[in-house]
Amino acid sequence: MSKKLNLDTICVQGGWKPAKGEPRVLPIYQSTTFKYDTTEEMGRLFDLEDSGYFYTRLANPTNDAVAQKIAELEGGVAAILTSSGQAANFYAVTNICQAGDHVVCSAKVYGGTFNLCAATIKKLGIDCTFVDPDASEEEIDAAFQANTKCLLGETIANPALVVLDIEKMANIAHKHGVPLIIDNTFATPINCRPFEWGADIVTHSTTKYMDGHAMAVGGAVIDSGNFDWDAHADKFPGLTTPDETYHGIVYTEKFGKAAYITKMTAQLMRDLGSIPSPMNCFLLNVGLETLPLRVEKHCSNAKKVAEFLNAHEKVEFVNFAGLPGDKYYELAQKYMPNGTCGVISFSLKGTKEDAARFMDSLKLAAIVTHVADARTCVLHPASHTHRQMNDEQLKEAGVTPGLIRLSVGIENPDDIIEDLAQALEQV
Ligand SMILES: *Cc1c(COP(=O)(O)O)cnc(C)c1O
Repeated sequence: MSKKLNLDTICVQGGWKPAKGEPRVLPIYQSTTFKYDTTEEMGRLFDLEDSGYFYTRLANPTNDAVAQKIAELEGGVAAILTSSGQAANFYAVTNICQAGDHVVCSAKVYGGTFNLCAATIKKLGIDCTFVDPDASEEEIDAAFQANTKCLLGETIANPALVVLDIEKMANIAHKHGVPLIIDNTFATPINCRPFEWGADIVTHSTTKYMDGHAMAVGGAVIDSGNFDWDAHADKFPGLTTPDETYHGIVYTEKFGKAAYITKMTAQLMRDLGSIPSPMNCFLLNVGLETLPLRVEKHCSNAKKVAEFLNAHEKVEFVNFAGLPGDKYYELAQKYMPNGTCGVISFSLKGTKEDAARFMDSLKLAAIVTHVADARTCVLHPASHTHRQMNDEQLKEAGVTPGLIRLSVGIENPDDIIEDLAQALEQV
């Protein structure tokens, strides 16, 4: 597909390209396996000498078409879909890290990513240092070691809503000869394309806005093709030295800009197997078709809701980078001039019980553990995600007793605001 197409066109037309007489709509190839005529034909697939389908864990036409669409949306050279956002981040890191290595990660990331880096990869022998993403270049520099293999952050952190200074982080990563990996879940490529600001790898929980209807858990990893693995060959032997499990091929030699994603498919997907089902990829593709329309509506609704809450006497503060005066407003204007996302956090004045009364009084907004779908929803960190903490610990984590995470949907904004207003009256 031509690079000139606009994102909303790619959302509708990207990926699946039917030939004469083929289905107009992306088919669901609900088949684990694919047929060949000769032993030799299939043997060449196993050697990575030919590309083609033979087993869905490694590749499936439905999945590939959707991965291709997402690669085009991010402006990358290749992408892979995973069964969840967690799998995407795990693969993005372990594709270039092994026991004895080290990563640097923003401290303001999704809880699942935090645990992945703080606990799970540690058990595999990969160490992690967390850094304050707002710290100076010098302070973040100091976290790097000789064995550091990547820097990780989120465009808009879930749920902290911190906007990352992507250019600053890219400069730091590149100074140390490692790639910058950005989780772009909340911004989506509609509002921010991290590769344009120097990021090398992008990940997604497609579960959120990309699907957008709360139907299918999924993830994606996209490679910009810009990071020069060979220039730092000693740091990335997995990409630059022979893979004995594939007759000694060297990924960067054989696959050039597609080396990183090909290695991920050939090794991690082969051995760990976090593949999404073709059915879920089909649902994701339907979601992607309307992504630009929904993102625009989520953002404009969220701005109206944030303005309403900000002016309300019972609200202590509002975090929303699209609101002038927010700590991250300037960074958001730079990286996401058309809008940030539909998620807001705000704190009621008062106690945990006041917040619970507010939540229970909502009629339209539902209490669910989710964000970024078409329906407005809320979560109360002090009673839900951070339930085990006492008031002192909550304060340290930046969670006030009255803090509420609100994912603004695409309903009529007047109805959303009216629902919030009547629930605020109950407090
Ligand atoms: C939800 C989320 C994840 C995890 O994705 P799952 O699809 O739930 O596995 C990772 N990163 C961010 C920013 C998220 O919001």
